Amino acid sequence: MNKKRVYLFGNGDAEGKADMRDLLGGKGANLAEMNLIGLPVPPGFTITTEVCTEYNQLGKNAVIELIKLEVEESIKKIEEATSTKFGDRDNPCLVSVRSGARVSMPGMMDTVLNLGLNDEAVVGIAKKSGNERFAWDSYRRFVQMYSDVVLGMKSNFKSEIGPFEKIIEEVKKIRGVELDTELTLTDLKELVVKFKIAVKKQTGRDFPNSPWEQLWGAICAVFDSWMNERAILYRQMYRIPEEWGTAVNVQAMVFGNMGRTSATGVAFTRDAATGEDIFNGEYLINAQGEDVVAGIRTPQQITIEGSKRWAIQQGVSEEERKVRYPSLEESMPECAKDLIAIQQKLENYFKDMQDLEFTIQDGKLWLLQTRNGKRTGTAMVKIAIDMLKQGIIDEKTVLLRQEPEKLDELLHPVFKRSALASVMPITKGLPASPGAATGKIVFHAEEAEEFVAKGEKVILCRIETSPEDLRGMAVAEGIVTARGGMTSHAAVVARGMGKCCVSAANDLQIDYKSKKMVIGGRVLLKEGDWISLNGSTGLVYAGKIETQEAELNDDFSEIMRLADKYARLEVRANADTPHDAMIARKFGAQGIGLCRTEHMFFEGDKIIAMREMILAKDENGRRYALAKLLPLQRADFIGIFEVMEGLPVTVRLLDPPLHEFVPHDEIGQKEMAQVMGISYEEIHNRVESLLEQNPMLGLRGCRLGNLYPEITEMQTRAILEAALDLKAKGIETYPEIMVPLTGILYEFLAQRKIIDDTAKVIFEERKDKIDYKVGTMIEIPRAALTAHRIATSAEFFSFGTNDLTQMTFGYSRDDVAKFLPMYLEKGILKDDPFAVLDQKGVGQLVELATKRGREVKKELKCGICGEHGGEPRSVKFYEKVGLNYVSCSPFRVPIARLAASQAAIGQNK
Ligand code: PEP
Ligand code: MG
Repeated sequence: MNKKRVYLFGNGDAEGKADMRDLLGGKGANLAEMNLIGLPVPPGFTITTEVCTEYNQLGKNAVIELIKLEVEESIKKIEEATSTKFGDRDNPCLVSVRSGARVSMPGMMDTVLNLGLNDEAVVGIAKKSGNERFAWDSYRRFVQMYSDVVLGMKSNFKSEIGPFEKIIEEVKKIRGVELDTELTLTDLKELVVKFKIAVKKQTGRDFPNSPWEQLWGAICAVFDSWMNERAILYRQMYRIPEEWGTAVNVQAMVFGNMGRTSATGVAFTRDAATGEDIFNGEYLINAQGEDVVAGIRTPQQITIEGSKRWAIQQGVSEEERKVRYPSLEESMPECAKDLIAIQQKLENYFKDMQDLEFTIQDGKLWLLQTRNGKRTGTAMVKIAIDMLKQGIIDEKTVLLRQEPEKLDELLHPVFKRSALASVMPITKGLPASPGAATGKIVFHAEEAEEFVAKGEKVILCRIETSPEDLRGMAVAEGIVTARGGMTSHAAVVARGMGKCCVSAANDLQIDYKSKKMVIGGRVLLKEGDWISLNGSTGLVYAGKIETQEAELNDDFSEIMRLADKYARLEVRANADTPHDAMIARKFGAQGIGLCRTEHMFFEGDKIIAMREMILAKDENGRRYALAKLLPLQRADFIGIFEVMEGLPVTVRLLDPPLHEFVPHDEIGQKEMAQVMGISYEEIHNRVESLLEQNPMLGLRGCRLGNLYPEITEMQTRAILEAALDLKAKGIETYPEIMVPLTGILYEFLAQRKIIDDTAKVIFEERKDKIDYKVGTMIEIPRAALTAHRIATSAEFFSFGTNDLTQMTFGYSRDDVAKFLPMYLEKGILKDDPFAVLDQKGVGQLVELATKRGREVKKELKCGICGEHGGEPRSVKFYEKVGLNYVSCSPFRVPIARLAASQAAIGQNK
């Protein structure tokens, strides 16, 4: 039997249904279902998404051959249902042709209305409807839309006014009118003639008069639109596979532009911005669909309540509202009553907030579309919790309906919607740390502090950041860097601080000396100018854009409570300060999975003592400086352990290469020479000797602790003494000491020995002891491959997927942004592997190491603390491989908790 490629619907019957959205697209599947539940839907048919794939493989002519018979048969069915005839001059059948992919891609693909009209049919329609103006209005709309969409007349530039708009404007100017609705019948006829002349002039072809030629042109244009630039970009942004294809929906026309008893509109069963349970929407009398979105006329509200609210916002008096902008409830009460009943029925049926399109033709209501409505993060949370309370959905559905990334909107400031309407981005980088920020440009950390001290808000703009910029980053509203990837210093630190960051904005050319930057060779901005960042999208804007603070509410807490009820994976946080730890705890972290001790050395006196230690000539010198650092580190740990009372805290020993801590400028080196009482040259030479060609693969991690065991000794002492001090005060702590960058069992054994020996000494000194664990990062492929050896001694593994990704791919974390955007654009990589775990490669190492480790130590605790820890798609993978916990930046904790619950529900299905 031949494969079925076309599905009919109409008159309360349908060949498709709602759960066939993969084949029929969202629109087609729901049009079918609306028929089945008895709603008024104009009859039509859907050409399947599979045909789109065939179209791209076999080409236009072959596909027309494949579906010709089915389409012709289906048009006959529409003719029967509407008692009209396609191509007839007296009683023509007119149709709409619309795209409809599996998921909605608003505005991405094209629509043609009123298809079937030509010079003869327009006369027939005029006679039949008794409304000549309506007939010619529909005809001029059709010629314009068809030429734009099918004949390629639409300008590629949104801002550019197209040839048809120009003609309309000219005619309006000559007639001295403002609105389309004020054009006379003669004007509309003139428009059609002028439009057709423009088509001939631009395309060299006559506008097609044959309805069949029109229909095939429109069907193919919809398939072509799947591969247009806008659609491709949209798919990339929302990760929609190209193979999905779009369906084509051909449907009998109903007209909202037949006069004062006709209208068209869109409506939402709940408020898509706030989530409130109020039916709302907009409509226009005597109009067709595109008028509502085109903004040519002011749409009116559907309900009286909404209309009154709108009038107050717009400063429109009640009298004026009633006369000029009445609600549908007031202007067409019967239709409004039907619509309100239908929206309720649709929401109850689909059990989610619906976004619907309707048309009223001569007093009769028709539904043209229903789909689950897009909504803000706030609305997503509120609608789900309300629906749970209303008994519409269950707890698991509540959780599965939450888009983890959207929760971000509730945790960070966002731009005010109204403020965004009037600005254009000037460049785009990586969305390194979410949220919105606006402030004055500064290029140096010190200036950031100076500006902020004067009460200014700043954005720190750097080529890249280093630990020296920490204080500037801490006071800035946001950070933008020209280089670096998703795991660059700026990205990692900003996420930890919950601060907005855009990294790798390659277009930025920053000149630190003149304190200016050029963007894409065009825009010039200097210190003190305003700039705004969206760290959730990576977009950068010139100027000030107002932001609004995030607010957490009871609905959010309820979502989190449910998430914890269903999640199996624990969620910990990466936090290096008591302040970050506090935020992590507030967001529900069940411990700290990574405390990067190096971040602690940049505050106050610590950096001087640290530099002294690094620049010391010998072990004695180092020990002298380390003795100064010990009480400071111990105090740091006391602060963190206290906040995390009763929960585990994984402290990682010093990791980065030493040259990151020393001053590279003359002033800084001279300062150190004075502190240490040695010559500037000596300091200078020592700094030079620390430089490496490839620091990411150089003297860092446990290599440091093995070369300079006294560093490990001091850090162990600081950790355990802090824990003992708190124990004395009755505060429970669970320290876990973590060795970084282990690649060889013996590296770990050597570190473990120093830690255990130091612990023994301390316990003897203090006549007291404390339980502690010693484990390691698994972030070198060799460590993953030899996990069964390392696990003989390590008590836990924590996957450092930043380094593991770097070393598995061979992409330097510092330089990857130079080629990654191109790789993503060309489709060589589907995702940035530093943001989304590469399950096929890096993931294999994670899975293998967990399995091998547990073969020798069944109770081995395994977690992940790389930047992939809180990434929702990756969390599903951690659930599958059976990790014990994920650890992520404090602000990501709620997202990870939600993702963990979704992963657990998905796994147990
Ligand atoms: C890692 O490599 O994944 C990690 C967490 O360590 P860092 O980013 O500090 O190198
Ligand atoms: Mg690492």
